Amino acid sequence: MEQKKFKTEVSQLLQLIIHSLYSHKEIFLREIVSNSSDAIDKLKYLSITDDAYKKIEFDPRIDIEFTEGSDATLILKDNGLGMNHDDLNDNLGTIASSGTKKFLAALNDDLKKDNNLIGQFGVGFYSAFMVAKKVDVITKKAGEDQAYKWSSTGEGSYSIEEADRDEHGTTLILHLNEEGTMYASRWEIEQLIKKYSDHIAYPIYLSYDQENVDPDGKKDDDGNPIKTIEHKVEQINSCTALWRKNKSSLKEEDYNEFYKNNYSDSEDPLFYTHVKAEGVTEYTTLFYVPAKAPFDMKYADYKPGVKLYVKRVYITDDDKELLPTYLRFVRGIIDSEDLPLNVSREILQQNRVMNTIRTASVKKLLGEFKKIADNNPELYTKFIEQYNGPLKEGLYSDFANRDTLLELVRFKSSTEDGYVSLAQYKERMSEEQKSIYYITGGKEQTLKSSPLLEAYKKKGYEVLIMPEEIDDFIIGSIANYKDIPLKAINKSGAVDDLKDEKEEKKDSKEEKAIVKKIKDALGEKVSNVVVSSRLVDSPAIVVVDENDPSVQMQQILRQMGQSDIPEAKPILEVNCDHNMVKKLIESKDDEYNKNLSEVLLGQAMLAQGVMPKDPVEFTKKLNELLSK
Ligand code: ADP
Repeated sequence: MEQKKFKTEVSQLLQLIIHSLYSHKEIFLREIVSNSSDAIDKLKYLSITDDAYKKIEFDPRIDIEFTEGSDATLILKDNGLGMNHDDLNDNLGTIASSGTKKFLAALNDDLKKDNNLIGQFGVGFYSAFMVAKKVDVITKKAGEDQAYKWSSTGEGSYSIEEADRDEHGTTLILHLNEEGTMYASRWEIEQLIKKYSDHIAYPIYLSYDQENVDPDGKKDDDGNPIKTIEHKVEQINSCTALWRKNKSSLKEEDYNEFYKNNYSDSEDPLFYTHVKAEGVTEYTTLFYVPAKAPFDMKYADYKPGVKLYVKRVYITDDDKELLPTYLRFVRGIIDSEDLPLNVSREILQQNRVMNTIRTASVKKLLGEFKKIADNNPELYTKFIEQYNGPLKEGLYSDFANRDTLLELVRFKSSTEDGYVSLAQYKERMSEEQKSIYYITGGKEQTLKSSPLLEAYKKKGYEVLIMPEEIDDFIIGSIANYKDIPLKAINKSGAVDDLKDEKEEKKDSKEEKAIVKKIKDALGEKVSNVVVSSRLVDSPAIVVVDENDPSVQMQQILRQMGQSDIPEAKPILEVNCDHNMVKKLIESKDDEYNKNLSEVLLGQAMLAQGVMPKDPVEFTKKLNELLSK
């Protein structure tokens, strides 16, 4: 027998599970049953696709037994793939699953308290130690001769020795601890299986002894009724793939229960859509949108939420190509009749059938979103609060569905509360308004109080407020909405639309003089100085050329480490009716004018949430001016 130490991370995880998951002990059964089901999936798959396993014939099943009393045990047996010596070391001595690793990495106190989050990571096999003082794993890998027994008390080390087992597969013997003894009960086990593992594709049998009183009422010598013990084996899960059932036979509760049991969520989904497609390509899809965005939605290495089955045989849940990336928050199932079972990842990507299913699924999902947007605004708001970001990503990654996505994304607005759609904006546009205006870069509050908005407010034009970083990335690529151009008000182009009477008269001599003074004072710091036609209360603003990134975008790019992006110099627009600017005409003091010009530029940058180039210098100049 060999004795081995767990990798440190396993010890950490064990500590955590044992001490933090108290209120959720019962999930251990779901975790080990799903491991058995996965092991059967794997063997079934190999027996169909891999010549070495083709001879193996087996009736997939999972068996549960238990013994009561002071050394109560719970025994779970499967005839799945099983593990050999190396597998045991790799799988049960280290943390194999990347989800668990991420969980450990992300560990903090909030997380420890949040059982629901822990559930999302699936702590797996090790959760058995919540209810067991010792766990034995007796296992034989399909196609191999030697069986092994792995054994541990969950305290730092485990042992492996040779053992006997007839059929391939794995038996887990949980030597229940004090709190665990409650699970050595027919009633408890049945409840938990119904709750968590009812749709597991394989039958789960429970063996138990039933006491029967003699039906004829016969008594023994002492006059007590005669009892016989009958050993029973009963299937305790319904074992049907819910998505295969007829839609008409399913109620909302059925769908929601299925979701909660299979996707480790304690909340009902926002909505679901179930499609049984018949015709040239035959397939079933069942998709859910979770009430809360999955915790890893913002990570590049998110875990995809859609499982692929072929004729009910599970193929993969780890393929990011099943749905486009921007729909990574969707959970559910794709079950195809027409894909080959041994479909590989590479084949999946080019497979015609898979393409058809994927395209139809995206259409269906977006159509569903649209339906909700039109008919159930309250629900749609909840949806948007979670998933507006991913939908916006779709705008630049999914050109085929761009028109639909444009109807789905929402923005904040300078005139309305909550979220608005482009359609609503268009509806509100006055006849003379030529473009859809928006402002990006900076926090929502900064944008809403930007001096750039003044002229649009005065004209009664609505401006879309886009505070998200992603807005800046996507919006530039949307030139039009229903033939109406979209224009950024912090770029030079949008201003032309505002030109009216005021602009008709050529810049006065006085204005020309101001512009020249400021230009001379600022020199290389700006690309141009112009008289503004859109400022009311503010002395100046900065804009960039139509084709340059906004000043905020430049700041973001620099923060992201792109120090080498060429600097796009701002255009300074000055409000010649403003007192501060008028002072420039009155003063003959060159030094004073220079300082004033610099402060004019610096404060305009600040108002857009961008730090002046040299904050110390800026403050010095400001102080000098103030003390004059
Ligand atoms: P996860 O299931 O998330 O990968 P676990 O800690 O539950 O993590 O299990 C670790 C690994 O141990 C599994 O990935 C699998 O390879 C192996 N394993 C666990 N239970 C079984 C089983 N019943 N049969 C075969 N292999 C198993």
